Amino acid sequence: MKLELKDVSKRFDTGAKQVVAVNHLNLTVQQGEFVMMVGPSGCGKSTLLNLIAGLERPDSGTLTLDGKPITGPGPERTVIFQDGALFPWLTVQQNVEFGLKLKGFAKAEREEMARLQLSKVGLEGFEKSSIHELSGGMRQRCAIARAMALEPEVILMDEPFSALDAMTREDLYAELQTLYDDNKTTVIFVTHNTREAVTLGDRVIVMSNRPARIVEQIEVDILRPRHIDDVDVSRLAQQIGSIMKEAASAGEPA
Ligand code: ADP
Ligand code: MG
Repeated sequence: MKLELKDVSKRFDTGAKQVVAVNHLNLTVQQGEFVMMVGPSGCGKSTLLNLIAGLERPDSGTLTLDGKPITGPGPERTVIFQDGALFPWLTVQQNVEFGLKLKGFAKAEREEMARLQLSKVGLEGFEKSSIHELSGGMRQRCAIARAMALEPEVILMDEPFSALDAMTREDLYAELQTLYDDNKTTVIFVTHNTREAVTLGDRVIVMSNRPARIVEQIEVDILRPRHIDDVDVSRLAQQIGSIMKEAASAGEPA
C-alpha cells in the first residue's frame, strides 16, 4: 500500500467568500505507517482527510492509492469521525456487521467477524446493546471495531477522541496502540492535540494555519507503548507546539 498526494489544492466557494483549505500539498504514506496530522482548528485537516476518503474532490492535484486515482469513497479507506457516526437504529453488533453485509459476507460469517472485532476493542457482552446505551468511549470503540472488521488498507481518523474525557481517552490510546501492533494497518489520524500526536504516531506532520501546508514532518522515535504523560512524549509535544506557534506567527500567505 502506498498513498500519494501530489500538489493537492482544495478551495470552497461560499457566496462572495473563497476559502482555500488545502494549498499545493504533497504527501506520501507507506504501508503500515501510523501518521498523525496536527494543526490548528480550521486549518484544513478534515478537508484533507475527506479528500483522501474520496468524500471531497480536489480542485487540482492528484491523489492515488497504489497508483490508482482516488475518485470517490471506497472500502479500502474507512473513516472514523469524531462522533463515531454509528447507526443509532442498529445494535452494536449490527453496526459492525453492516459493512460486512455490503461486502457480501454470509450471516454466520459476519456474526463471527463482528464478535471477534468487538472483543478486541473490549465490547464483549455489549453486542445487543443499542448505541444510545453506550458511553462516548464505547461508541468510539464500536466505530473502531466497525472499521477494523472491513480490513481496510487505510483507516482515516478525524479527531476521534476529542469529545471524550481524559481518562477515557487514555484508555483508547492504549487500546489503539495494541490494535495497531496486532494489525499494522496504515492509519492517518488528524488531531489538534500535540500530545496525542506524539503518543500515537510514527510520524507527526505539522500543518500550517489555513490553507493547510506541511510545515514539518517529525519521526517519533519513542518506544511503544507510550503514555501521554511520559517525559519524552511531553518534551516532543512541546517542541511541536513551538513549531506550530512559529508557523502561525510567520503569517502564512492565504
Ligand atoms: P479543520 O478540520 O482543520 O478544523 P476544516 O478542513 O474543517 O478544518 O476546514 C478548513 C476551512 O475550510 C475552514 O475555514 C472551513 O470553514 C472551510 N470549509 C470546510 N468545509 C467546507 C465546506 N463544505 N464549505 C465551505 N467551507 C468549508
Ligand atoms: Mg476538523
